[in-house]
Amino acid sequence: MYLINRTDYKNDFIKKIVEFAMPSGTKKPFLLVVRYGSISTGICYDYFPIISVTLEKNAKYPLLRNDKPRTKNYIRNIPIESEMAHLVFLVAHESGHYLSNGKLSEGDCDAYAIHTVSQWRLFSSF
Ligand SMILES: [Zn+2]
Repeated sequence: MYLINRTDYKNDFIKKIVEFAMPSGTKKPFLLVVRYGSISTGICYDYFPIISVTLEKNAKYPLLRNDKPRTKNYIRNIPIESEMAHLVFLVAHESGHYLSNGKLSEGDCDAYAIHTVSQWRLFSSF
């Protein structure tokens, strides 16, 4: 993985999240861009091995992700307790798209991300 990190998180910490979110997929090379922006969002391109994750700079936590209706089958009202959890969520969601070559739906990727955040909570308390 190649990393462009424009956040305050350490590179090693973000690499740990990626290893956690895609334990079998880290051999497939890609570029991960992590930065701050006006909204928290992620994108995984279909034809380029690039994942981009943006964190809203002044977001108030806890928050509900997808609290407003969206197109596609995103899971509504996902509780996100902190910016760090949001980072794990977004990396995991986009990892779902990437590892499935775009075959997983938005709802499937949300479910994978919810699972990954819950596992991360256990892992990071050790
Ligand atoms: Zn998605």
